[in-house]
This record gives sequence, C-alpha cells and structure tokens, in this order.
Amino acid sequence: MNPFSYIVVNVVEILLRVVPLPCRAGLVKIGNPERHSPVFLTCNYHLTVERVKRALKGVDCYLLVANSRGINVWCAAADGHFTNHDVISVLKTSGIEELVDHRNVIMPQLAATGVEAKIIHKKSGWKTIWGPVYAKDIPLFIQNNLKKTPEIREVEFPLTQRIELAASWAFPISIFLALIIIPFWPEAIFPIILMIWGLSFLIFMSFPLYSRWLSSEGKRIGLIFFDFGRGGFQLILWCLLIIGIIAYSHLFVEFSWGFIFRWGFISFIVVLVLSLDLMGSTPVYHSGLHEDRLLKVILDEKKCRGAGFCEQVCPRNCYGVDSNRHMAAMPKTERCVQCGACIVQCPFNALYFKNPKGEIILPDTIRKFKLNLLGKRLREK
Ligand code: SF4
Ligand code: SF4
Repeated sequence: MNPFSYIVVNVVEILLRVVPLPCRAGLVKIGNPERHSPVFLTCNYHLTVERVKRALKGVDCYLLVANSRGINVWCAAADGHFTNHDVISVLKTSGIEELVDHRNVIMPQLAATGVEAKIIHKKSGWKTIWGPVYAKDIPLFIQNNLKKTPEIREVEFPLTQRIELAASWAFPISIFLALIIIPFWPEAIFPIILMIWGLSFLIFMSFPLYSRWLSSEGKRIGLIFFDFGRGGFQLILWCLLIIGIIAYSHLFVEFSWGFIFRWGFISFIVVLVLSLDLMGSTPVYHSGLHEDRLLKVILDEKKCRGAGFCEQVCPRNCYGVDSNRHMAAMPKTERCVQCGACIVQCPFNALYFKNPKGEIILPDTIRKFKLNLLGKRLREK
C-alpha cells in the first residue's frame, strides 16, 4: 500500500473505528521468508493488519491473520471475538506448519485477555511469545531478539492516540444525533455537532490533567465530595457546559429559560453518551458503570512460582518479578485497568480478582466469561 493510500485508510478507518472492519483471515507472506523465519499473528481488523504489515516491512516473515470478526485485538480478546479457537484454527488450517520448522508464534500482547498461551500450546503444539502492545514497536522487539522492554509492554495514552479516539468517538455520535435531530430541529445540527466534537476533544485531550482523580474512592474538593467512580466526572463536565450555555445566552442571544432548558438537556445527553464506559472507548476509565472497574487483583504468594507471564502480559506494568525469590510482586497496583490478562495467563492460578465486598472471582470465571459492551462478564465463549 503506497503512503497516500495508507494515510487515507488510517483516516477513514479511525473515523469508523467503532464498527467492525474485517479483512481476509489466513496467511500473508512478507518478504522472502524461510523455514526458520518468525511467525507473527494478529486479528483481522483491517487497520491493524495494515499497521502490522507496515511495521514488518523489510522483515522476512509470515503473518497469520486470525478471525476476530473485524474487531481490534484488545476489544475482540476481551469480549470473546478473538479466542483460543480462532488462533488454533489459523495455525492448523493456514498451511504454516508445512512452511516453517519451528513452532513459535508471536502474538499481540493485548490478545492475552482472551487467548490462553497454555491452551494454545496444549492443543496445537505452538508456543506463544507475547509481542509488543503496538505494531510500531515490532521492529524494536525484533532488534531486541524478541525480548520486550517495559516501554513496549505498556498501553500508553499519548496525544496521537487521544486524538484518534476523540475523532473515532465524535464521528459516529455526531452522525447518529444529527440523523435523529434533522427532521424536527435542523438549525440545531451544526451547534450540536460542534458541541460533540469540542467535548470529545476536551475529554480526551485533558485526560492527563484529571486522570489521577479517577479513583474508585472519590475525591473531596472543598466542601463537596465527588465520587469519580460513579459519575462525578460527568457531573463536573455537565456543570461546566451549563455555565457556558448560560453565559452564551446572556451575551449572544436573548436570555430565555426555554433556551437554557433545551441546550441543558442536549448537553446532558452528549456528556452521557461521550463518557459511556464502553470497553476502553472513553478515557473515563472509572466511570463506574460496571463493577469490574472496582476489582482488585490479588496475588496468592503460596501459589506463585515466579514464571513471570503476568509481567509479560500486563499492559500497565503493574508487576515486577524477583527471579531470586521466584516470586511476582505488584508494586504498582494503582495502575491496574482490570483487564484480567495476568489472571488468564498465570499457569498456577496464583492471581484472582477481589470485588469491593471482599468476594473472590476465580481465574476460571475470568477465563470463561467474557466482557459484554458495557464491561460485564456475562457471556461464556
Ligand atoms: S503470578 Fe503467576 S504468572 Fe505471575 S509470576 Fe507468579 S506464577 Fe508466574
Ligand atoms: S495487573 Fe491489572 S492491568 Fe495488569 S494484567 Fe492484571 S488486570 Fe490487567
């Protein structure tokens, strides 16, 4: 794909990010691979495949594309659309076993919430090597002899990604709301779209400023206590908008309660939709629509053998493994985003979730029940 087409694909598919965009699953040959060449695997979300291919430019290797129903790796693995079955299926049916002498497959790290390395090995004979989080880090990973530095294990939220997500969230919402409003209030469409884009960029761009307040415990600001775990952030945003609407009505239009009420209601809907906690689509991680956000990972030291799989798959670098004591430690628990990857991959079941009531959620429950769109573990896959 030439650079211009690559940019167009990126822009269009970022705007359409909330809908599945599948491409053909199967085997892709990159360069002139030989029998010892590395085998990479990714999901069949079109943008991901293009980005991985670009990152692998100049590397002689094979790329396996597993069927994730056109959904990106992290979402598909978490919600049961990218499973052990999908990985085993492409390993067994793509013809890769006839092309290489080894049985090592490099998997995207974010697949670890739904694809179990232990099961893949048991059922297919292929050993999983967890690759970096982002495709752009694949060249560095190869340069490091397939070893990951903490930097390339971590999900960050850099400016570029925040811009992408703000646009991918604002675009479908503005289309959706515009279609609803056109028939009976056409003159309001432009300001509503402006509000959606402005607010979306505000939420994503200012994330570094408010992220430390998004704790499930809440925060006291002066005399007021805000429970950021349960809608406090959204309330502040809405209050700011109401102040803006009142100021606007005083300065630029004739003041009327009807105007305040109408725009107050519209802005309430926009804040609510934009900050919906749909599996990573908003930076408001602790918006508290589901209890999973309040779970804590617990390490059972008696069971831990220090194998370090947790450290390899944790996208927030919460773990450290003491190789002398053969023991994991969780020095940065506050960074956890409750993805469950460490629990799914721990071969000794040394990790589990505990909810705020003190109830334990066992590893097999996390492996068996996948997250639905609102982040509840409901469906068995
Ligand atoms: S918690 Fe599990 S995966 Fe992590 S080091 Fe201990 S045994 Fe290994
Ligand atoms: S410690 Fe938290 S963020 Fe890290 S893998 Fe486990 S659940 Fe995910």
